[in-house]
Amino acid sequence: MDGRRKRPIIVVDGPAGTGKSTVCSLFAERAGYCCLDTGALYRTVAWLAREREVSLDDEDRLSLLCGDILVVVDEAAGRMRIFADGEEMDRRIRTDETGMAASRVSRLPGVRRALLPLQREAGAAGGIIAEGRDMGTVVFPDADIKIFLDADPSERAKRRYLELTERGEDAQYDDVLKDMSFRDEQDMTRSIAPLKPSGDAIVLDTTRMTREEVVQSVMEIVRSKTAVSHGSSAL
Ligand code: C5P
Repeated sequence: MDGRRKRPIIVVDGPAGTGKSTVCSLFAERAGYCCLDTGALYRTVAWLAREREVSLDDEDRLSLLCGDILVVVDEAAGRMRIFADGEEMDRRIRTDETGMAASRVSRLPGVRRALLPLQREAGAAGGIIAEGRDMGTVVFPDADIKIFLDADPSERAKRRYLELTERGEDAQYDDVLKDMSFRDEQDMTRSIAPLKPSGDAIVLDTTRMTREEVVQSVMEIVRSKTAVSHGSSAL
């Protein structure tokens, strides 16, 4: 582990619908870590763009918008909180429409550059589990533990569909699958920080795993890795 950090940095990357958010927040709650949901930052840029009528292709103005985003690491709540225009970003950024717009703005190098220091500062002290698409490859390349979650597209779309309908949203499975495949393709083929496992990541296929099994696997990976590097476990 980096000598300046007292606690580990764990990163979890993977495509939409692999359960990253749920698994990371459960892990954070149980292990006393802070969860950084970095997709929420790209969603916030997309949300601000709509509020201020900025085109999703206007790289310069979108990059400037990032300067209006405030990230607060709330240790007591075990997660990072995002504020923009004095308002806390909440369910308003969780729609599929915002997810698609987030994927579009995330292709722009200026936006990624502007969001990088916010993410690094939030994780600097360690004791975090950060989830996204480029945590292990770009944002925290020296993370102590790198995990990549994957699952079959049909299973991921099913999970996402259930999540949306449970929230009372009017969703169709076929549309969810189509949007998800489009977003994956966009995230995997962009020229900057494309979605891919870091060479040193542990890849977990969660297609046939329950959420609890995934959390347990992540716990086990962290336990074994931290035990090896410190002679005792951080959990
Ligand atoms: O994870 P979530 O679905 O909230 O992410 C929304 C979008 O933000 C993703 O489709 C991806 O394009 C982008 N993203 C990214 N890098 C991250 C996190 C999210 O490009 N670290």
